Amino acid sequence: MRLGVRAALVDGALVEGDVSVQDGAVGAVGVRPAGSHGTAVPGFVDAHINGTSGVDFFSADEEAYRRAAQALAACGVVAFQPTFVSSPPDAYRDPLRLVGAVALDGLPQVVGVHLEGPFLSPEWAGAHDPANLLPPDRRLAETLCAAGPVTMVTLAPELPEALELVRELTARGVVVSVGHSDADAAAAHAAFDAGARAITHIHNAHRRWRARDPGPAGVALVRSEATVQAIVDGVHLAPESAFGAFLAAQGRFCLVTDAVEAAGLGPGTYRLAGAKVQVQDGAVRLADGTLAGSLLTMDQAVRNLIQAGAGLGAAVHAAAAAPAGLLARTDLGVLRPGAPAHVAVLDDELRVVRTLVGGVEAFSASA
Ligand code: ZN
Repeated sequence: MRLGVRAALVDGALVEGDVSVQDGAVGAVGVRPAGSHGTAVPGFVDAHINGTSGVDFFSADEEAYRRAAQALAACGVVAFQPTFVSSPPDAYRDPLRLVGAVALDGLPQVVGVHLEGPFLSPEWAGAHDPANLLPPDRRLAETLCAAGPVTMVTLAPELPEALELVRELTARGVVVSVGHSDADAAAAHAAFDAGARAITHIHNAHRRWRARDPGPAGVALVRSEATVQAIVDGVHLAPESAFGAFLAAQGRFCLVTDAVEAAGLGPGTYRLAGAKVQVQDGAVRLADGTLAGSLLTMDQAVRNLIQAGAGLGAAVHAAAAAPAGLLARTDLGVLRPGAPAHVAVLDDELRVVRTLVGGVEAFSASA
């Protein structure tokens, strides 16, 4: 099969010509004659998403996961990491077990679960219920990791015994991301020294970056092993803050949506785990005004980053290769001969017109 595209983005460079797909993999790029239907790019990977389109992953059943995956395919997403906010310890068990069992054939794939909390700083709870925050507890972490496919944990490394937990999670292959944290520079450096690999939604819900007190953001931007995750929705970050972080981090800059179930729906009242949130004027907030996730989609994040100043290749890298690399998924985030055909096709306005997951059409704008 040929995609009928004019060009493809291969390792960050535009290659003129069509793309062939065979047995679920990319066969060739630069195929002549070129088609006329847009540009093929590596499918997007969303490492931080609480829900979308009426689905809240923490309370979702398998059918709801399928509906969410369908909605994500329409945004060019081929893989996603459902994110659970801080919750009572016993409440995690069933949602974690379900993620391990959910089957999404021919749809965007679950890469694992991101536990955002519960080992977070009460100083920077953001939309997390302070009653659900706990000091680092290695036994609880072990229980949660045993209950389902935990692939990422956001924690505050300045809390007591947090560095031990960073080392343990890292040793079991779980990515540790620094977030909802009051860490000063020394504490943030210690976290990365212990194995942390990312910062969660930079410039949001952590100690602020000041001239002589750079906090987690300042440290993450200069540590070469740190992936910088950012919500580029125009609400969580001013365009200059987003582009400044992008310029500093370059290939380590990673777009996430932090979307909630209200994404793709209208204004109103929605859920985020156990809490009620209000959607108004493009923002999601708790009753007290605290931001509580976003309405962002990955394709919009790519367009926003380009609008802020990035090129197409770099913006797609931030939505595909950067999260894939953070999650050590060499099968994701690449478009090249021999790689699995996880592909989004964008039109000239960078809107998603088609998404393939493993060579299977998960979304087509013309269908
Ligand atoms: Zn958060």
